[in-house]
Amino acid sequence: MISAPVLVINSGSSSLKFSVFDMNTGGEAMAGLAERLESGDAQLSWRERGGDKQTLPIPHQGHEGALLEVHQVLKHLGSPLAVGHRVVHGGEAFSDSVLIDDAVIAGIDDCASLAPLHNPANVLGIRVMQKLYPQIPQVAVFDTAFHQTLAERAYLYAIPMHLYRDHGVRRYGFHGTSHKYVAAQAVERLSLDPANHGIITAHLGNGCSATAVRNGHSVDTTMGMTPLEGLVMGTRSGDVDPGLHEYLAESLNMSLAEITAMLNRESGLLGLSGLSNDMRTLTEAAEQGNADAQRAIDVFCFRLARQIGALAASLERLDALVFTGGIGENASPIRGQVLAKLPLFGFSCDAELNQRHGDERGIITTADSVPALVIGTREEWVIAHDAYQLSQT
Ligand code: ADP
Repeated sequence: MISAPVLVINSGSSSLKFSVFDMNTGGEAMAGLAERLESGDAQLSWRERGGDKQTLPIPHQGHEGALLEVHQVLKHLGSPLAVGHRVVHGGEAFSDSVLIDDAVIAGIDDCASLAPLHNPANVLGIRVMQKLYPQIPQVAVFDTAFHQTLAERAYLYAIPMHLYRDHGVRRYGFHGTSHKYVAAQAVERLSLDPANHGIITAHLGNGCSATAVRNGHSVDTTMGMTPLEGLVMGTRSGDVDPGLHEYLAESLNMSLAEITAMLNRESGLLGLSGLSNDMRTLTEAAEQGNADAQRAIDVFCFRLARQIGALAASLERLDALVFTGGIGENASPIRGQVLAKLPLFGFSCDAELNQRHGDERGIITTADSVPALVIGTREEWVIAHDAYQLSQT
């Protein structure tokens, strides 16, 4: 048993992640993953703090079956005080985490057209957990919420306004939980003025986005209406010319669905390298002289540096650049290459600090540089924290 357990659910289309936090210590007591849901080799795996990884085949089980198993697996930790759900798209309806009721579920459903793969899976997770834990407060934490403070000039596309007014076509941004957390960490670690600072955060995982944070608020970000816009990612293209679709349709006879799948699943690092979507594989291959891997890395780093420059247009001052996510936290050559492109912004990388992923505060730059930091993201922890806070109100 742990004294104050809070359960976090990240329910995706064919997989779901869960974690249990002890809110009295802040530690993660258990974390697990159910994957390949609905298929013959669906499987649940989990690890309890200090324990070994355990796996359980759950053939042909979907979200409901998997969550029933999760319920059994974590029973001995004690009944959760709250359940926090990661929800991908909150549209303009949600600018903060909320306690879930019927109206909130309807609101998340309303945003499903903006995130057709994600929001229905999120709602499914919520409904199953409501059934399993009817007495326990459930909280939705949105990937988009932190970016609801974007200025109109940053969120509008230059297309006819009725598409925004009538159909919600605008930039929303994602990874908000991560950007908010690491920016707050940077303020604390560098003792910045909470009411007067400018930070750029780069969340670099399988999906990648960067955000300009002014005085604790997101003011611009690289992802848009969907998580396809912006930076080069593992398999996603990021920005392309909107004229590309017509060209591919006419010259290669590709359908809209084929183009969308290509841009989401066959592009980015994978498309450029023809080798892998995984940055670790690419950095290792590049070190051994693989030119295709090096080219993919070069485009990735250039596009990130270029976007950092663009984000600076929303800040009056630049106090820090933060790297986070699997790539940001681990890939020192990528950080080094990006910083080397930004001397105009006052960055100067310290090779030794970069190599060891930062000093005690996470700083990887020289003493006379604008600080760049490596800060581990803790999205699940933030979701647990918000769920716990709201459940106490
Ligand atoms: P997700 O977005 O799915 O949460 P992560 O944040 O775990 O993904 O990031 C995954 C990415 O981080 C992959 O491209 C992976 O190769 C990269 N990564 C992890 N460790 C390293 C490393 N040591 N060197 C380079 N890349 C790494």
